Formats: sequence, C-alpha cells, structure tokens
Amino acid sequence: MTADKPDPPLLERAAAAILKAGRVVALTGAGISVESGIPPFRGKGGLWETIDPMEYAHIDAFQRDPAKVWRVLIKDMKEVLDRADPNEAHRALAWMEKQNLLQAVITQNVDGLHQCAGSTDVIEFHGNFAWQRCIKCKARTATAAVDLCRLPPRCRCGGILRPECIFFGELIPPQCLRRAEQLSAHCDVMLVIGTSASVYPAASMPFIANQNGATVIEINPERTALSGKVSDFLIAGHAGPVMKALVKTIVERL
Ligand code: NAD
Ligand code: ZN
Repeated sequence: MTADKPDPPLLERAAAAILKAGRVVALTGAGISVESGIPPFRGKGGLWETIDPMEYAHIDAFQRDPAKVWRVLIKDMKEVLDRADPNEAHRALAWMEKQNLLQAVITQNVDGLHQCAGSTDVIEFHGNFAWQRCIKCKARTATAAVDLCRLPPRCRCGGILRPECIFFGELIPPQCLRRAEQLSAHCDVMLVIGTSASVYPAASMPFIANQNGATVIEINPERTALSGKVSDFLIAGHAGPVMKALVKTIVERL
C-alpha cells in the first residue's frame, strides 16, 4: 500500500475496534502536523538533520545563550507555526470527539492545531508555543504579539521571554502526566499517530495502554520502536489520508 492508499482490511479492523470500544484516546506527535507544513524533529526532512538538539532545544542551551536559541530555533518555529492550519487528521480527531468516539487527545505537539480543528480535550504534554513567559516576573505574552526585531525578546520588566514549551531537560507538568497515564491505563483503543515514540515519558503511554489490554493502532508512514511489539498493527501512510479514510470507514459502519 502507498502512503496515501491505506490498506482497506486494516482500516476495517481499526473502525471495528473503535466502534466496539468504550474509550478511545489518541496520542499524537510531530508527524500529524507535517501535512500542515511543520517539519518533525526526526525522520526525513526533520529539523535534527540540520541542527543539533542538545545545542538548541535543551534548557541548559537556552540558559547559556537565549539569543542564539531564539535566533536559530524559536524564531523559525514562530514563523512556521504562524502559517500553519489544521489538516484532515486534526479535523478527523475533532470529528471523532463530537461523535463521542474519542475521549481525549494526548499530544506531544506544541502547535495548538488540535484545538484549532475543534478538539476540546487536549493534553499538551510539552506545552504550547502560543504563549511566552517572562523568566523574571512570569508575565505571559501571546507569541503572536512578540516583537522579533531584537533577540532575545524581552518583557516590559526587562526579563527574557521563553516559550511555554518544555525544553529537553525540563519536567512534564505533573497534572498532564497523571491524566495521560490515567487515560492510557483505562482506554480500550489507543490511536498512535505520527510519533517516533522516542521521547519519554510520552512514549510510555502506548506501553501503559498495551499492558492494560487496549488495542494499540499506529498510523505512520514508517515503522517505529512500537511496531510489532507494543502496537497491534500499523496502518502505513500519512496521517491526513489515513484518518480521512478511517472516518469514511467508520461512517459506513455507523
Ligand atoms: P518525531 O519528530 O520524533 O517523529 C515524527 C514521526 O512522524 C516519525 O515517526 C515519522 O515517521 C512520522 N511522520 C512523518 N510524516 C508523517 C505524516 N505525514 N503522517 C504521519 N506520520 C508522519 O516526533 P515526536 O515523536 O512527536 O517527538 C518529537 C518531539 O518534538 C515532540 O516531543 C514534540 O514536542 C516536538 N515537536 C513538535 C512539533 C509540533 O508541535 N508540530 C514539531 C516538531 C517537533
Ligand atoms: Zn517580566
């Protein structure tokens, strides 16, 4: 099957599992937003092909040289995210929530596209790029309103602004982690869309779901660390076309 023609028997299997399940949750990663024009970190065309994560995305790097991290990573991210709109895959998950077929989305993404598409229960594991916080007085500023003329941008109090995202080396907010673990432990089906499952603790959610007897379904053009081990099956393909086809299959069975 090609990336844009997902395997019909696997779509049938996924639709049947979703319709039979009491609780379905989705875990999403950078791959779900690739078709919205946002590059992932790893894999083909990933950001890590051009920059070293530890040099730019680690909290130590930001504390050492915030201007450099703003110049090389955050400024570009702002420009890319400013232009991005939700795609078919984000919209499919929002539709599933409206049909009571999806309880919540646990996302590693910081782009806010699930909420833009209409999802209302989104656990943002790594924060949201839409806001910046002053490291001195903690005041919040919308990222859209930040002036990029002088880097790093500063708050009125003179403190440096940082995105409300988790850098490598920082802790996941405990309430997010607790809720994600609960959802993972109690779901009947977990859809794992567009994640390489290599960033922990987010990557442990499919393990928790699997250990508690859930069906774990991956949607990804590539195999991942979960494939053939933790996931029951992989629907090979890009998130947009696969989710569109999955919605169609569900509707035919409703
Ligand atoms: P990742 O970059 O490690 O992996 C991306 C995965 O998506 C790969 O497995 C790849 O095969 C798959 N993929 C690529 N194109 C796809 C498509 N069209 N449809 C479906 N899958 C596709 O991403 P990750 O696992 O989310 O971990 C990276 C970390 O980077 C996350 O913690 C996240 O916070 C951050 N990040 C976020 C964004 C964003 O907010 N959009 C973008 C880049 C990185
Ligand atoms: Zn301030």
